[in-house]
Amino acid sequence: MSDKTYPPAPEFAANAHVDAARYAEMYKASIDDPEAFWAEHGKRIDWIKPFTRVKDVNYNFGDVSIKWFEDGTLNVAANCIDRHLATRGDQTAIIWEPDEPGDDAQHITYKELHAEVSKMANVLKNLGIGKGDRVVIYLPMIPEAAYAMLACARIGAIHSIVFAGFSPDALGARVNGCDAKLVITADTAPRGGRRTKLKDNVNQALLHDTTDVKCLVVQRTGDQIAWRRDLDFWWHEEAEKVSADCPPEEMSAEDPLFILYTSGSTGQPKGVVHTSGGYLVYAAMTHQYTFDYHDGDIFWCTADVGWVTGHSYIIYGPLANGATTLMFEGVPTYPDAGRFWAVCEKHKVNQFYTAPTAIRALMGQGNEFVERYDLSDLKLLGTVGEPINPEAWNWYNDVVGKGNCPIVDTWWQTETGGHLITPLPGATAAKPGSATLPFFGVQPVILETESGKEITTTEAEGVLCIKDSWPGQMRTVWGDHDRFQATYFQQYKGYYFSGDGCRRDADGYYWITGRVDDVINVSGHRMGTAEVESALVAHSKVAEAAVVGYPHDIKGQGIYAYVTLMSGETPTEELRKELSDWVRQEIGPIAKPDLIQWSPGLPKTRSGKIMRRILRKIAENDYGSLGDTSTLADPGVVDELIENRMNRG
Ligand code: ATP
Ligand code: MG
Repeated sequence: MSDKTYPPAPEFAANAHVDAARYAEMYKASIDDPEAFWAEHGKRIDWIKPFTRVKDVNYNFGDVSIKWFEDGTLNVAANCIDRHLATRGDQTAIIWEPDEPGDDAQHITYKELHAEVSKMANVLKNLGIGKGDRVVIYLPMIPEAAYAMLACARIGAIHSIVFAGFSPDALGARVNGCDAKLVITADTAPRGGRRTKLKDNVNQALLHDTTDVKCLVVQRTGDQIAWRRDLDFWWHEEAEKVSADCPPEEMSAEDPLFILYTSGSTGQPKGVVHTSGGYLVYAAMTHQYTFDYHDGDIFWCTADVGWVTGHSYIIYGPLANGATTLMFEGVPTYPDAGRFWAVCEKHKVNQFYTAPTAIRALMGQGNEFVERYDLSDLKLLGTVGEPINPEAWNWYNDVVGKGNCPIVDTWWQTETGGHLITPLPGATAAKPGSATLPFFGVQPVILETESGKEITTTEAEGVLCIKDSWPGQMRTVWGDHDRFQATYFQQYKGYYFSGDGCRRDADGYYWITGRVDDVINVSGHRMGTAEVESALVAHSKVAEAAVVGYPHDIKGQGIYAYVTLMSGETPTEELRKELSDWVRQEIGPIAKPDLIQWSPGLPKTRSGKIMRRILRKIAENDYGSLGDTSTLADPGVVDELIENRMNRG
């Protein structure tokens, strides 16, 4: 992998919250005395009753329990709204950019946000929702999604957001999974010029429900929908009946704030529970430091609120910091592949945060879509979700950032609530493809896969675990504390097990090599999928690649590569050979793919991650049972791959 480093520009470091010296000093303090460190940083949010206890954590399998700021009380919505009213009531809190570029954007001030959230909170109360009740939010990226989240937080209800692209079945399972009393949805949702019938999906999801789940419906398009008498309510009608004042509920730091399912890349999604105090401290702190957010900046995270990235870095982190956060209803390729950059130009975006999948897709469309727009307001770029291939990193850096914007490659998970391993842009020299160094209070360790022994040399490769806790950590799996313990604390005793493989280089930098389940063993050599994929993507004709192992008589496992070519390239036998030779040259003979399948599309989760477990099944010629495919974005892709599979043995 590329080992070229990109140190922070001196001017950037000079104005940053944290420079290299400060990072070293703060990191050391956070590890030497976590209690003192977090007692101090816990004060960044407003407490109704201040905490006296900082941390109470037990990682012992059988007794796992995680508590932060336990005896403090607060309200998360009041932290995200009310406390800013005196100083920035007229500042824009949310910029909303609609799907159609010709439609008007909205600028919602903190005052307006306060009124809308309070009204929605009162509507929820009128519908019988109170503290501890579960509310499923199934909304597109419209301001009402933010109102709904914060209204739940205001009255102490627990929200569980289901991405609006999910099917009625997936929605129904999540409504049942948490015994929700209410679903908040919209009539229909425009996205990429098409419309999803959200309310119809809700009706279908609740068809066999006997518990009379109510539904609050936002009118987004005015399209016709089927109405369930006595159970369905229009948001705009209910809003007229209530006051714009709703006192925030006093919540304990450890009261649940939300339930959110993981992406389902490696199996059945897990219902992750985050609580109020620690989560908010951690989301706000990482938002400020990782993105070097300053007052007045316009921050855009392109994720959907249906994923944790949207929770922490569209809503809770930015709003707790009094930021201006952008919410985008559409997709990167509508009306064309320049939309992201058009929105950056239009709203003068300063920090831009997206996923490698989007970067690779846009890279494949050519530079002219970027070059059309004035991106001079950009100060920083970020990525999250998968390892970013150095090739894509370089494109992001050169073509989007013009070499002037630090890139933060943030490694974290639904479970972690916020960034765990990430550069701080004024402090850390970046290396393309590496998530670099731990955030404050985070102690990554690399364990030997089999023995679970901690590898203490600087250079190491194995399983990525975290020693000790951080405030944003998940507390349990909803309704299944045993699964929580078994998934994260059983295999490697005394650590939080991330499920990811990782390499630490001589500078102590962390490189995520892929999921532990995806490690390939070729003739006794263990290999992460990320490295082989990055070598393939580095070839000028390749847009995207996914690599898995399959049983091989001689080598134990062979390397099976699925390759998506750049638009305009033709798959040929010569190219197949050229790519094999290319990987051999880039990494070595051991990494040379045995089989290459041309794949115009790859199976991805709805959050945009490659689902290698499905590709592994196809490569193994065992495609009869593909496991949980409920979070698969486009099942049609899978049929096409099975049809054209290379291993029919
Ligand atoms: P499931 O847990 O259901 O299999 P998932 O792990 O994809 O799904 P998420 O919580 O959305 O669910 O994703 C977290 C994972 O994404 C991490 O464990 C890691 O594998 C990957 N990831 C996130 N950010 C990065 C990054 N910057 N570099 C490398 N990998 C990343
Ligand atoms: Mg996971």
